[in-house]
Amino acid sequence: MLKITDLHASIDDKKILTGLNLNINPGELHCIMGPNGAGKSTLSKILTKHPDYSVSSGSIEYTLNFEKNNLLNMDANEISLNGVFLAMQHPVEIGGISNFQFLKEITKSHCLHQGVAATNDEDLKKIILNLAEKLKLPSDFLDRSINDGFSGGEKKRNEVLQMLLLKPNLIFLDELDSGLDIDGLNIIAKSIKEFQNSERSFLLVTHYHRILEKIKPDFVHVLYNGKFIKSGDYSLAKKIEDQGYSWLI
Ligand code: ADP
Ligand code: MG
Repeated sequence: MLKITDLHASIDDKKILTGLNLNINPGELHCIMGPNGAGKSTLSKILTKHPDYSVSSGSIEYTLNFEKNNLLNMDANEISLNGVFLAMQHPVEIGGISNFQFLKEITKSHCLHQGVAATNDEDLKKIILNLAEKLKLPSDFLDRSINDGFSGGEKKRNEVLQMLLLKPNLIFLDELDSGLDIDGLNIIAKSIKEFQNSERSFLLVTHYHRILEKIKPDFVHVLYNGKFIKSGDYSLAKKIEDQGYSWLI
């Protein structure tokens, strides 16, 4: 589904990714760990075409319905419409647009792209409130501005709500578990598990073993200085939690 080859990228002439390779098949859940500043969020931003980052070489091939797409040639909007989703490490607050307006617009544009009729407002509200209840988001959240005054954990749950609503294929979850209390962590881990299927792939960035214990990734990769220096299975995450990164670098 995703094939990243020898990716080099920088911001303001500062090299951040320095030859990154990654292959993800449909249905797989990959975890990325690595010290602060290693380039984990940079990878998420390059996958979704953040304008501040520039790619000097390498390729990102994304396959959907047997069709190969070059993500580097697509804009953020197209990338989203084609089923790539990013739950940001630091979701932004946007005043003046209610959560409902936002969720309605993104749902509408995805329906339009897929050639299906958009759900009417009343039904969409019911669907969203159902998801909100499941994620334990406050019921008044729909009328508030996007993430306005939300706690760190509520912002993360709101990201998950968008994911559940849009039903993407390739999902990048950047430190979704940071800032969540134990109940929040359990709810989100359960939502991810229920949402997993043989055609949907995940890239999950985390510093903590506790979410991986519940989600059980297929692969764990360690990012350091802009490239993966070690890959393994779930036991690698446990070893990192116990011993840190010094034995690897
Ligand atoms: P991680 O998510 O692994 O903690 P990031 O991808 O956020 O790391 O950052 C990688 C490196 O890029 C860090 O050294 C960070 O300071 C730098 N960086 C990120 N964004 C910018 C920016 N806008 N300007 C300058 N440096 C940046
Ligand atoms: Mg980060």
